[in-house]
Amino acid sequence: REGMRGHLFVFSGPSGVGKGTVLKKALSALDNVAFSVSCTTRDPRGEDVEGKTYCFMSEPDFRKMADGGYFLEWAEVHGHLYGTRRDIVENNLEDGRDIVLEIDVQGAMQIKEKMPSAITIFIQAPSLEELERRLRERHTETPEQLEIRIANAKKEMEFAHAYDYLITNDSVEQAVEDFTKIVKKYREEI
Ligand code: 5GP
Repeated sequence: REGMRGHLFVFSGPSGVGKGTVLKKALSALDNVAFSVSCTTRDPRGEDVEGKTYCFMSEPDFRKMADGGYFLEWAEVHGHLYGTRRDIVENNLEDGRDIVLEIDVQGAMQIKEKMPSAITIFIQAPSLEELERRLRERHTETPEQLEIRIANAKKEMEFAHAYDYLITNDSVEQAVEDFTKIVKKYREEI
């Protein structure tokens, strides 16, 4: 792959759709695909590992980095700030390594504008009712946060058409296969 830049994949989907699970499984099934660890001002949750799932930081620190042009894109999601580190993405692509960004629709649209060769993938739940059920069963948010996420999910789903690929998470295994197939297609492995 010498001299070849990596592919940039952008993966979005509403909160509760299971995109984290699908992505984790897909990445462990794929070789040599990097995950872009975002910066965020939200508090860590149970499954979070500093530097692995996110880099957690204060809002003033985040804003300083944003002002310094440190982020390829950033957005406010569910009342918190989230941003993609430009250096990580650029270094991987330059090294010829593919990288996946798991970001919201606002971020995905910013990336598509700046880097038109980015491949965008949206994952949706089988239905809005199913999505609400999954979110409620997660018990990770307060009722107030849950309402914000449900409202946001409805808005996010309106952007599905703007993505290159649409995956429906009926079954996790199928969604993982769909995702890995898309990546492999661009890597010319299939
Ligand atoms: P969560 O707090 O549940 O981990 O993520 C909330 C939302 O923020 C998800 O839709 C996730 O995709 C999005 N997100 C995570 N990192 C970034 C980022 O760097 N930029 C943008 N724009 N969204 C992000």
